[in-house]
Amino acid sequence: MTPKQIDLVQIRKMAAKKEKENWRFRQFLKGSEDDLGIDRLVAEITERVWAGIDCTTCANCCRELQPTFSAEDVSRVARRLGMDRQQFINMYLQETEHGESNPWNTRTTPCPFLKGNLCSIYEDRPGDCIDYPHLYNPGFVSRTWSMIERTFTCPIVYEVMEEMKKSLRSEKRAYKKG
Ligand code: SF4
Ligand code: SF4
Repeated sequence: MTPKQIDLVQIRKMAAKKEKENWRFRQFLKGSEDDLGIDRLVAEITERVWAGIDCTTCANCCRELQPTFSAEDVSRVARRLGMDRQQFINMYLQETEHGESNPWNTRTTPCPFLKGNLCSIYEDRPGDCIDYPHLYNPGFVSRTWSMIERTFTCPIVYEVMEEMKKSLRSEKRAYKKG
């Protein structure tokens, strides 16, 4: 499949247009009693959507977000850069806010390891980046609010949300009203 051209300005506009519908869709999902089935559907759709999007032509997450680092991530990336852990933390990281599972995140945006549209530490990038946009993680229904935010910045999440609505539309139309 040839990857789609990515227009981030357009994605943001379309996400704004769909925002209210997406919040209603969230309510609809919360009423579902089959969270595992929803996770399976999200994974299936994500695979299809991702095959048509080339992240190296986007890199928007690397420009807009501050990925978190675990202790293992710090050791691995510091080693790659030939720095000791504390030197690395002092240069690039800050403590995360209370409630985050990882103790640090990058201090600045865009990410200091982004070169052009590519990650300069790709093979050793933090787990948070490997998992992004977290569509394969379990518990999609409980994380829908953060997915709605991501529809504004991540073309994959935007498309997955649209495909999810299409896929479940035949079962229920409640989120289309209002
Ligand atoms: S994960 Fe989303 S925001 Fe990040 S590069 Fe891929 S499409 Fe863009
Ligand atoms: S570490 Fe790499 S993948 Fe992660 S945000 Fe920075 S540039 Fe992007």
